[in-house]
Amino acid sequence: MNTYKLMSKLYAPTLKEDPTEAVLASHKLLLRAGMIRRGSVGLYSYLPLAWRSILKIENIIRDEMDKIDCEEMMTPILTDAELWRKSGRWNAYGPELMRLKDRYGHEYALGPTHEETYTDLVTNELKSYKQLPMMLYHIQDKFRDERRPRFGLMRSREFIMKDAYSFSANVESMRECYELQKQAYANYCRRIGLRALPVVADSGQIGGDTSVEFMALADAGEAEICYCDACGFAADTEAATVGINLVEGEAGELEKVETPDCGTIADLAAFLKVPEAGTRKALALVDGDKRPCVVFVPGDHDLNDVKAGHVFGDYHMMTDEELKEYGLVKGFIGPIGLPEGVQVYADATLKPSEWWAIGANEENFHYIHAKQGRDFEIQNWVDVISAKEGDVCPKCGAPLKIARGIEVGQVFQLGTKYSEAMGATFTDEDGKEKPFQMGCYGIGVGRSLQAVVEQHHDEHGIIWPVSVAPFEVEVLALDTKDDVVWPVAKQIAGKLAERGIEVIVDDRKERPGVKFNEADLMGFPYQVVCGKRGVKGGTVEVKERATGERMDIAIDDVVDELVERIVPQRA
Ligand code: ATP
Ligand code: MG
Repeated sequence: MNTYKLMSKLYAPTLKEDPTEAVLASHKLLLRAGMIRRGSVGLYSYLPLAWRSILKIENIIRDEMDKIDCEEMMTPILTDAELWRKSGRWNAYGPELMRLKDRYGHEYALGPTHEETYTDLVTNELKSYKQLPMMLYHIQDKFRDERRPRFGLMRSREFIMKDAYSFSANVESMRECYELQKQAYANYCRRIGLRALPVVADSGQIGGDTSVEFMALADAGEAEICYCDACGFAADTEAATVGINLVEGEAGELEKVETPDCGTIADLAAFLKVPEAGTRKALALVDGDKRPCVVFVPGDHDLNDVKAGHVFGDYHMMTDEELKEYGLVKGFIGPIGLPEGVQVYADATLKPSEWWAIGANEENFHYIHAKQGRDFEIQNWVDVISAKEGDVCPKCGAPLKIARGIEVGQVFQLGTKYSEAMGATFTDEDGKEKPFQMGCYGIGVGRSLQAVVEQHHDEHGIIWPVSVAPFEVEVLALDTKDDVVWPVAKQIAGKLAERGIEVIVDDRKERPGVKFNEADLMGFPYQVVCGKRGVKGGTVEVKERATGERMDIAIDDVVDELVERIVPQRA
């Protein structure tokens, strides 16, 4: 039978002060509301209230997966090193992979993701094209020895992930699975109350996207997104190749000018009386092969670390000592007269630019009217800049906007990467053995929960969307000893529970002020305040947490009123 929960029996140790371990509002609130606790670096426990929300989130995932015939199952968390060796990731994964040995010295990893496990699972069992496509998933703890675990559930070392894997006979079918999962992810975000954007994570090969991240928009997000209001284009700035508003230098004869104290772009632009975009920034680095490199970017743009990694491998920016060692003059580097052996790169957005204002490789001197092709050549054109506000949409040319986001999920087309490496094949219609065309699809469950809080809170506490709220209604019995108030509070809670509403009753012997504050902190969508005066007059006060709206409602009507409001808001 449906019944209500008494707060006196709930384990939710609240905190009055902001805990020092937390930076993000969502992290602070989850700790303060007694919903999560840190055990060690990047390890969190979900206390009963948070766990109720987690189960709701998981059930929304289950519902969306059921709709697209993606089947739930469960595999071990511990994965055999042999599988990782087969796929080549035992070495490639690096220190993030949590490795361990059993008593016999055999090696294992705690799964950070399960491509190997699922590919191995279907090998020799999923045999015919007639059984394809097949989509399988589980919701399970994952382990990553993150370099910087932080922000609570956002980036922890053990976290709950839903991960799905699709096996198809051909590319078209893989794309269909991918599109189904993508749609399910969009539905999922909407249903748990997240404002999220699907953003291109990998620049599309063969047309269309091959990977999309679902980004919950939040200033506190670790990811940066550029997007276009005009055509809907959206991409991770790590992946986006965008246009820029190119500002040319002045035309003329090559001229070396003294530019004292102009070691920065801002100083130089002010000195030359040109916009920063009209100058060229030189960055010196040592690439993964230990070669000295100089890369030129538009003066108003920065190097993107991830893109640079694609070009330069395991690179680092030169130290002052390294600059000296390679004969480079800090703040005055340019393409004319560079020391022997320095590799020259420039961002491809500068390719059409003829006239550059640029360092002269001499302390306190720059060149103006430096002409590409006449005065210098660039050997390598690359894509290495971070998109910024106002850059040009690669799809429609409109100005781009920049936002921050929390990656809550990602879908990938994998092709035959794992099936080929691990020998996972099926027999196709033509009788030939072929590797599966695969896709993989992940959702961070704990990260989603915290992203919801990051988007839904105010200075008093959390504001749960009904779909993922630990309880839908809190009944505040302001005087539990009163022989009128307490029976009415119990009666309302009981009736709501009978109607399938999830109710918690604050039956503790606390002052009303404490109860009000904690109700706002925990953030259940509706509060029913049962006070002596109201109850004697036949009413209770209902407060909607999201809007702050307060309504005096007759005791006889309050159950119907709440059911009517809550049920349509369930996902
Ligand atoms: P990030 O770029 O944030 O490190 P990722 O791209 O490495 O994440 P995926 O491999 O795509 O992560 O994993 C699928 C999902 O798992 C992510 O979209 C994210 O929601 C979640 N996730 C990944 N790493 C963590 C973590 N350390 N803590 C909590 N959730 C995580
Ligand atoms: Mg990802």
